[in-house]
Amino acid sequence: MGSRAVPRPALRRAKWKLVRTPGGRLVVRVVDKKHDYPKCAICKRPLHGFPKMTAREERRGHRPPTRVYGGYLCSDCLRSALKAAVDAAYWGVK
Ligand SMILES: [Zn+2]
Repeated sequence: MGSRAVPRPALRRAKWKLVRTPGGRLVVRVVDKKHDYPKCAICKRPLHGFPKMTAREERRGHRPPTRVYGGYLCSDCLRSALKAAVDAAYWGVK
């Protein structure tokens, strides 16, 4: 068991962390990659209130803001969209 094993292809680009076992061996532990922040659908800026999460953490779920379009639009874009909708209702769509 002297040579290091070749990692399987799915783990070749993953981040590795060397961990010393209680028996004194050095063992590679694969660190899960974190996804980027979710982005606003209009302005593409990162949404507030979301941490960078691994795929496993995303599967467990994260509660988005409770307003309409929460977790989809940022608050600035939602505010301007609502104002535009109200203006269009009052003054007609030009
Ligand atoms: Zn936005």
